[in-house]
Amino acid sequence: ALTAGIVGLPNVGKSTLFNAITKAGAEAANYPFCTIDPNVGIVEVPDHRLQKLTELVKPKKTVPTAFEFTDIAGIVKGASKGEGLGNKFLSHIRQVDAICHVVRCFDDGNITHVSGKVDPLDDIDTINLELILADLESVEKRIGRVEKMAKQKDKEAMYEFEVLDKLRTAFEADQPARTLEFSEDQMKYVKGLHLLTSKPVLYAANVSEDDIADPSDNEYVQKVRQFAQEDNAEVIVVCAKIEEEIAELDDEEKAMFLEELGIEESGLDLLIRATYNLLGLATYFTAGVQEVRAWTFIQGMKAPQCAGIIHTDFEKGFIRAETVSYDDLLAGGSMAAAREAGKVRLEGKEYLVKDGDVIHFRFNV
Ligand code: GDP
Repeated sequence: ALTAGIVGLPNVGKSTLFNAITKAGAEAANYPFCTIDPNVGIVEVPDHRLQKLTELVKPKKTVPTAFEFTDIAGIVKGASKGEGLGNKFLSHIRQVDAICHVVRCFDDGNITHVSGKVDPLDDIDTINLELILADLESVEKRIGRVEKMAKQKDKEAMYEFEVLDKLRTAFEADQPARTLEFSEDQMKYVKGLHLLTSKPVLYAANVSEDDIADPSDNEYVQKVRQFAQEDNAEVIVVCAKIEEEIAELDDEEKAMFLEELGIEESGLDLLIRATYNLLGLATYFTAGVQEVRAWTFIQGMKAPQCAGIIHTDFEKGFIRAETVSYDDLLAGGSMAAAREAGKVRLEGKEYLVKDGDVIHFRFNV
């Protein structure tokens, strides 16, 4: 399963946020694909469509989909040199598929900041630099192997060297790999390096309780937004401390609490959805009278692969996928009406499943 790693400097609110995730989170037992590990939090994907489908179909039960967050222990300056927990930290990041970078955007004199003052851009730089240095080392190692052959005019080596050199130049200018453009052929070499800075990233700006209703005045957040724009990354504003409290409430209490705070949706819910997208994940639904259920697939998967997520037999014996989009189904008001309106399609093996598809798989046993 794909997983997102939570990183950040010490005392920025990572554990608080991770606690909120695990508290709001799902029982591992319900999601057999998930790992059972104290550093992994399983979180259900908030999706209002599931509720609407439940009202429409009135099933016996409704099952949301879920995915994993991994808590990655605090980084310190010098991680790329293997100091302290450094090596472990980097190897944990290597294992995740996307990075959720928590930055401290709240002032609180009682909580010490590792570098003595709250400065989110400096914090971001500190971590990014360690990752870039680690990547630079990987690239230089590879260059050591390839350069000689490239000098002897080996075509393949020359081609690879060009890619490596472009990466090296970027790293030396403190630029992460994800900001560079490569052709599909070049991308194969980039992928082979398993770089840390080519993983997609989003920034979670952790603000104080007072700023959550209107974070636009928070100058730290403004700075992070500006930076993220250049990095092509999304910024989600959360208040980890409040999220930890919200996570203990039931749905009704949660709605009331959010209204009191003057916010429509909890920052954590936004963060969960943004991370899900960042991982390249999407949701399709099955909607039967027994069960209405959301299923996670990887964007770009075809219908048989998606059927295989439910059961391998569904993929092996795949015949076709009776498919209607969530919007068409809702507009019709019932499956029968959508069918009458010609909105239910019979899709075959090559069909690329879309987010929001409601699917009934037909298969041979
Ligand atoms: P970590 O080292 O990044 O895991 O940081 P923690 O989650 O342990 O948080 C460090 C301290 O900051 C704790 O005392 C938290 O209670 C506090 N903290 C975390 N988030 C917030 C927040 O949004 N507002 C305030 N005022 N304090 C927070």
